[in-house]
Amino acid sequence: MKPILSCRNVMVDFSGFKALQGVDLDVQNKEVLFLIGPNGAGKTTLLDCICGKTRASSGQILFEEKIELSKLPEQKIVQEGIARKFQAPSIFLHLTPFENLEIAMKQKKSLLSILLAKMTQVQHEKIEAILKKVGLFEDRHKLAGSLSHGQKQWLEIGMQLIQEPTLLLLDEPIAGMSGEERTKTGELIKEIAKECTVVVVEHDMEFVRNFSSKVVVMHEGKVLCQGSMKDIQENEEVKNVYLGR
Ligand code: ADP
Repeated sequence: MKPILSCRNVMVDFSGFKALQGVDLDVQNKEVLFLIGPNGAGKTTLLDCICGKTRASSGQILFEEKIELSKLPEQKIVQEGIARKFQAPSIFLHLTPFENLEIAMKQKKSLLSILLAKMTQVQHEKIEAILKKVGLFEDRHKLAGSLSHGQKQWLEIGMQLIQEPTLLLLDEPIAGMSGEERTKTGELIKEIAKECTVVVVEHDMEFVRNFSSKVVVMHEGKVLCQGSMKDIQENEEVKNVYLGR
């Protein structure tokens, strides 16, 4: 099977500090892949490189076997079908979840088409379907500012989903969530993965254990090891250094 995303020898140099030192990573279509590792390992920097927020100093990031992401501007990468949810939600707090999704839906379009377009029934239904998927349908006309922390995170995920990404990048999606919100987020990620590849940066090993997914351990700007949760738990270096065993 051909990977949907291939990183080859990706390096990032921040004024002499090598945050990524040759990352090699393949992501398969429709898998949920977890990126773990201690603080400073380079996980966020890798997501930043994939979505174009940070430029790789060298190496290759190939999407769908043909698109070299490291050469594309951020907006073009979004148009190619890669969505990124950052740790802090960037939703409009004074608008409703419905209105937030309406704005997100128009993001890929030109300014002219946004100005000319009236929302069609199909678009209206699409927004409602996303609201249901992320569990916000009942609260769709409340102000986003009044939502719980978890609901705000789900709204932000919805704002990415409405752009119908092929690859969704999530940076610590359960940070600050209650137990119930974590469970719901896990279910949401599994649901999303039926249609879309998902790469998740995550610290919470209990959460990662709920998935039968590939886990990639990063350390000092490189991939240290990868495999199932069982594989990485049995890896001596991971045991000693990252899981504190
Ligand atoms: P992780 O997400 O695994 O915690 P990061 O990717 O955030 O790690 O950071 C990797 C390393 O790169 C860290 O040492 C961090 O301090 C450094 N770093 C990240 N962004 C920058 C930047 N813009 N300028 C300089 N150093 C940075």
